[in-house]
Amino acid sequence: MKQFQILYKEDGGFLENLKEIKQWRASHSAYVTIFRIYSEDMNLEHVKHICECLDAEMPDALYLGCTTNANIMEGILSNAKIILTCTIFEYETTQARILQFPFLEENVARDVAELKKYCDENPWVHAVEMYATIMDMSMMEFCNEMSCLREDIQVFGGGAFNPDMDDDTAAVFSKGNGFLEHGIIFLLLGGTDFHTYSTFISGWKPLKRKFRVTKADREILYELDGKPALDVYRRFLNIDRNDRFFSNTLEFPLFLEHGDIDILRCPLAANHDDSLVMSSDIQEDAFVRLAYGDPETILVSIREDGQKIADFCPEVIQAFSCAARRAFWGDENISDETILFNSVAPTMGFYTHGEFLRIKGDMLNFNVTLVLVAMREGDMPNTVHKVNFSGAQIDNNEKIPIIRRFVSFIEASTAELEEMNMKLALSSVTDGLTRLYNRAEIERRICSALDKRKNQETGNGISLIMLDIDNFKKVNDIYGHKEGDHVIQALSDVLRNVAKKVHSCFLGRWGGEEFMVLLSDSNIDTAVALAEKIRLEFSSVTYETAGRQTVSIGVTQAKDETADALYTRVDKALYMAKAAGKNQVVKLD
Ligand code: GH3
Ligand code: MG
Ligand code: MG
Repeated sequence: MKQFQILYKEDGGFLENLKEIKQWRASHSAYVTIFRIYSEDMNLEHVKHICECLDAEMPDALYLGCTTNANIMEGILSNAKIILTCTIFEYETTQARILQFPFLEENVARDVAELKKYCDENPWVHAVEMYATIMDMSMMEFCNEMSCLREDIQVFGGGAFNPDMDDDTAAVFSKGNGFLEHGIIFLLLGGTDFHTYSTFISGWKPLKRKFRVTKADREILYELDGKPALDVYRRFLNIDRNDRFFSNTLEFPLFLEHGDIDILRCPLAANHDDSLVMSSDIQEDAFVRLAYGDPETILVSIREDGQKIADFCPEVIQAFSCAARRAFWGDENISDETILFNSVAPTMGFYTHGEFLRIKGDMLNFNVTLVLVAMREGDMPNTVHKVNFSGAQIDNNEKIPIIRRFVSFIEASTAELEEMNMKLALSSVTDGLTRLYNRAEIERRICSALDKRKNQETGNGISLIMLDIDNFKKVNDIYGHKEGDHVIQALSDVLRNVAKKVHSCFLGRWGGEEFMVLLSDSNIDTAVALAEKIRLEFSSVTYETAGRQTVSIGVTQAKDETADALYTRVDKALYMAKAAGKNQVVKLD
């Protein structure tokens, strides 16, 4: 495989470039020739001129291309508005074919079916490179359909885009098929001697704070944590709905876990009801987090995945990167992500807002990701030209420490807040002295158990155990209030210990030295046995100063009645235990 890279200039040098290519072809074994044309010039007259030249000068050559946000040539951000590569396959076995379709949501299934049919009839197809105008449609169905392609076919590519990130206009074109503002091109590649290896680099990391998708319909994200989705961008990042919304949010996509792959999803636009139009569908009940670019993670990813690409010994590398990465690094530094690849093989590609890669059969639509595709004809050479990726550096010293410190600040405050929230939630339902449920909470649980039973009419009964320490006033009077507190805590420890082994058992402090135990799924005999156990265990504790203490206990079972009626009966059972001499359990049906 031989690759020529051409920066297009208007001064007519292009014909010279073609001449050079033709000469090379004449003196080498040259088979299929493919030109890829990427243009950030939205006035397509120049591209049309290029196509006409190719039709006239090299009618056997295929060509295809799209409009882009910016171009990558020789591994760096190119300042040329139009770039071309000419790839010449040197093996007779290598084949290529272009399919182009108008790209509209209603056609997706039909187009992919046609692609699938072609691939099934042509087993030589190993790889599908694709460019598509994707800005105004959901890619969910497309990705689902593409996942049904023959399993061994790799798919990669990028969305056609525009140098202005907030402008939707884009185009794709290919030989014999003309230009389409809503179109998709598949370049089918393969043959026994054609090999590809593809991977992706993200480096965007999620912040800890999670949001649950509480309402979503296809690519419209209505609510996060029960509030309009735009609120998250408005509140946390001060990004509101305006005509720069897309470029403002692009660096802070939403992060979601897709099996074992982390995917970033960009909001493309904010609707008037504060819902967000996402770059692809998001499922209800999924968790999403805001993500940010982390330079260190990006570097680690380049070093690891870059080495794998180098080890494949490619002859050509295609890069489909995201305009958000370019915005993140700035034009001075963005090339640091890709430049090392050019010392492995000629590296070219473009910046887009949707990168595509099929992984383990699953067609994925990425955002803010760098998709890299290595291509080679023939076997791996014996002598591997090793590029050492451990030297990859990104020279952006000012940005790195600031981002790190801010992230560390955000993560620390989030963790603190979460801890405080948890403590608050806990303290609003628990009693300070005993750490059992407080009166309000145990009452709430009793009422809810009664309600549930009304609805279900199944299972065991609901039993209540009410306890009151005997002659407790004396403990306070003789040994002091502090010792009294110890005795109360000792009873709560006994309750906890005994309740551990009982399912659906809830412990509450009813007030003073009175306690209530709710058994929401036990019959009365179980409750009486439990009460007896509590009585015995409590009376066997010996206090240093207060000696031994006892507790009286009333037990009852709920009938079809109100909570108040139930409380009255269990209180009566307790009173009967007191009246009968204390330190005993009385059951009242
Ligand atoms: P009986 O056997 O009939 O239950 O007699 P008693 O003395 O236990 O009953 P009474 O209701 O007269 O006394 C309860 C005492 O519990 C009165 C109150 O000062 C004390 N008390 C209530 N809450 C606390 C507390 O949090 N700590 C301490 N130390 N004492 C408390
Ligand atoms: Mg009392
Ligand atoms: Mg008492």
